Amino acid sequence: MNNPSYLSLSSKELESRSERAFSLLSCCNICPRNCRINRIKGERGCCGIGARPTVSSYFPHFGEEKVLTGRHGSGTVFLTGCNLSCVYCQNYEISQMKVGEEFSFEGLAEIMVSLQRKGCCNINFVTPTSQVPAILKSLTFAVKKGLNIPLVYNTNAYDSVETLELLEGIFDIYMPDMKYHGEQEARKYSKISGYPRVAQIAIKEMHRQVGDLKVNREGVAKKGLLVRHLVLPNDLSKTEGVLRFIKEEVSENTFINIMGQYRPFYKAFDHPELSKAITSREHRRYVEFAEQIGLKRVYS
Ligand code: SF4
Ligand code: SF4
Repeated sequence: MNNPSYLSLSSKELESRSERAFSLLSCCNICPRNCRINRIKGERGCCGIGARPTVSSYFPHFGEEKVLTGRHGSGTVFLTGCNLSCVYCQNYEISQMKVGEEFSFEGLAEIMVSLQRKGCCNINFVTPTSQVPAILKSLTFAVKKGLNIPLVYNTNAYDSVETLELLEGIFDIYMPDMKYHGEQEARKYSKISGYPRVAQIAIKEMHRQVGDLKVNREGVAKKGLLVRHLVLPNDLSKTEGVLRFIKEEVSENTFINIMGQYRPFYKAFDHPELSKAITSREHRRYVEFAEQIGLKRVYS
């Protein structure tokens, strides 16, 4: 396994990235929600998270895509809070009810190193967007403790380019879940405006930084973009639009996981159109569509 990119940066550069990220917290515009509140002074915006790392759980995860798990699992860190509020969120206790614990920066560094000691092939930060400053600061400690596996940015794609630029050369693997192609659905079911456009720009920036997904001899991801897309029932995620965007504006070699495991959770039952799972026939239709339009690395 090659060394992850962040080991090529000097400690001064890593510290400077962390400081620049922290400077965004005093009038928070870490993500395109642009809450403009002071998280350093303890104010909370839409994501509900302060300035310190806030973690719900961490463990070697074997349920992720095979390219991420390797033999010993993906070192997954479930971060608390989220900048979206999806009515069907499977992890709503973590994302909406903010179940989790605040750690010191050294504490999050120790979590990373402990997952590496267990043999994990990467550190996979779930919903990292609002905690970018905390992750960068913790990374400066983790590198001193010997961290040497790639970082995965496992995001809902509602990310700003300015924040992503701070991650260039630090995160080797970007894994955005491109949730919607339709503005109206994003607003109704995830309480977010402008999602499709923001996500498209963010994913292009991620691809610019890391390119198509590359794997090592064991088939484990070392660098690149891995797009996920959760198919919602009744075509509410407008899947064909998402797939066309990936093919036409990102790359036909994008590794894309078309996920068919939607189940109603949380407040989905308030919306009859979201209250059922998708059928394997519906899912198959989208996988075939992706292949027909020329996407070459479709995973399902
Ligand atoms: S990171 Fe949180 S507080 Fe900052 S802009 Fe986004 S949602 Fe608002
Ligand atoms: S983006 Fe993901 S974690 Fe956040 S609320 Fe939606 S489903 Fe939950």
